Amino acid sequence: MKILCVGRNYREHAKELNNPVPDSPMIFFKPDTAVVRENKDVYYPAFTKDLHFECELVVRIGKEAKHIEADYVHKYIDGIGLGIDLTARDVQEEIKKKGWPWTLAKGFDASAPVSEFTSPSALPPIPELHFRCAINGEVRQNGDCADMIFSVPTLIAYITSIITLKKGDLIFTGTPAGVGPLHIGDHLEAWLEGEKLLDFHVR
Ligand code: MG
Repeated sequence: MKILCVGRNYREHAKELNNPVPDSPMIFFKPDTAVVRENKDVYYPAFTKDLHFECELVVRIGKEAKHIEADYVHKYIDGIGLGIDLTARDVQEEIKKKGWPWTLAKGFDASAPVSEFTSPSALPPIPELHFRCAINGEVRQNGDCADMIFSVPTLIAYITSIITLKKGDLIFTGTPAGVGPLHIGDHLEAWLEGEKLLDFHVR
């Protein structure tokens, strides 16, 4: 299983980190060792002093997908959920300066808490989905999937023109504005269409 993530897929988030809005999808990997399931608590990694949350809509691939046209992408998605793209922002800033890949800032152990997945047929179409993320009870991110710069069909068509996706692979579709630091003891909760899917603490 692999995880592909999209950077800067919401204008307001690109702006808050002083990044340009990309003209093609910016894709990076997380390894399967990043995944945390069942709302298990996350341990603050020792190598960073600036761990950030990024709440994202996550789609799960249901069967092998290679060179899929955007109009057919829905046939390849068998689950929709939420995930947190945990980011070591201080490490990312250093490696961005060097022009190095984001791997260590984004792909460390437990950097991808993910929720249970819901069948797409049980949800409104992706562009109509809303999600939100709260830290210690205060809502910090409000995601409106209609605001994605690159839609899910566009993203998956683009990715599968280069990288084959397999059953169980996850796509993190980018974060809206409102990202920020986490601290030991923080309580993170996130809802998709009003249903709470993520609920864990930072230890
Ligand atoms: Mg992200």
